[in-house]
Amino acid sequence: MSVKLDVRLESVGTRFRLFPQPRFLSAFQTPETVYISVPPEEIKPGPADNRMIVIDAINKLPYSRFFRPPYIGAKNPPVQPSSDGHFDHLDIESREFSCATMYATVRRVLDIWEDYFGHQIEWHFEADFSRLELIPLIEWNNAQSGYGFLEFGYGRSITGGIDRTRPYCQNFDVLAHEIGHSIIFSKIGVPENSQEEHLDFWGMHESAGDLVAIVASLHFDTVITYILNKSCGNLFTVNELDRVGELSESREIRIAFNYKRMSDVGAEPHDRSVPLTGGIFDVFVEVFQKELVNNGLITQALADLSNSGPNQSQDLSDIQNRFAAAYKGNEAGFKDALLFARDYLGQLLAITWSNLSPNHLTYHTILRGLLRADRQITNGEHQDTIRTCFAWREISLIPGSLLLRPHTVQECGLTAGPDFVDGLIERLNQKDPKVIEALQQILRDKPAKKKKS
Ligand SMILES: [Zn+2]
Repeated sequence: MSVKLDVRLESVGTRFRLFPQPRFLSAFQTPETVYISVPPEEIKPGPADNRMIVIDAINKLPYSRFFRPPYIGAKNPPVQPSSDGHFDHLDIESREFSCATMYATVRRVLDIWEDYFGHQIEWHFEADFSRLELIPLIEWNNAQSGYGFLEFGYGRSITGGIDRTRPYCQNFDVLAHEIGHSIIFSKIGVPENSQEEHLDFWGMHESAGDLVAIVASLHFDTVITYILNKSCGNLFTVNELDRVGELSESREIRIAFNYKRMSDVGAEPHDRSVPLTGGIFDVFVEVFQKELVNNGLITQALADLSNSGPNQSQDLSDIQNRFAAAYKGNEAGFKDALLFARDYLGQLLAITWSNLSPNHLTYHTILRGLLRADRQITNGEHQDTIRTCFAWREISLIPGSLLLRPHTVQECGLTAGPDFVDGLIERLNQKDPKVIEALQQILRDKPAKKKKS
């Protein structure tokens, strides 16, 4: 979501409170106030609106193949807003808070991504339901998203039971990741032939869930300030996870800062998604650094030093000290650069996902989609950055791809008479000496015409 829209929502939206990261992280124990796009006069008790509804089901079993929405069983009454129409009055230890926070998280993630897409994201289950059913607290040590619903239980205790201190519905990352899957089902769809579900399709799905969550969490002031204060803007050198402190406990942040290449991972979709997410996150960090350089906040030399990849011989503490010196007194400038890079990433992904076909999808197709999206947004300013980040992750054409096969001019049927070839030489002259040489070679090698018998 653009910074401008976020500011506008503060005057027209409805207030909620959310935990930006899991509550057990000591730096994030205070919820942050957010504004969702539905105004107080339109929001319904539940909370509910025209796209989603919270149903606080009681004694509900998880949905299954035989038990699907809509839910018609026992439930608690819908949560009411305060007298001014907002929902930020609820006790954070109450069941009502869990209901409200689940609604606000899903709505906020949708608001953020609909802004990047530039239009409403229609549900992939719209043929059957108009609204997404949100069930916040069922007696289950698990959570699931399915056709028309999200239903959440609690974390699993060490003994395998229910850990009531960790309701999934309060975990922003988990909810945002699941909404990411819904966005991809809506924008990309599924392969026409289910037998053809290439392993890159589900790797892309998991990566998209993570990226939707990462971009969404970068909309929390507490998260941005925490990352910048801890790292001083040095997000690229080895062990940056150490530098984001407690945030390194977050699954999504761990995945963003990873050094996995394709040769390090197997076929399991979560595993396979990691280099793709890492490559795309690298593009974001490079764009952030370019913005810092463009705004005179760090030097090009420092940017080059910090992004020369892991396992290099850089003096890491020297790099960190130089970032710390640059950050001091320029905190607002660093934050602006991070928000700029975040919004570039959001737009880049929205355009890429809007134009991907689910059929025969490979990471190479995604790479090309990102390059095309960048040309659309910036006129190609980051083409080399995208290529380099993906090359480092070993994301390239699959071996044996038809795109790798060379085509000789003879195979192209360009072996007509010498006049035709001469004409081609004339047309290609000055442009591609290799083609000209190939054509001349054909002329030299051309066998004499067989005489008609
Ligand atoms: Zn997932």
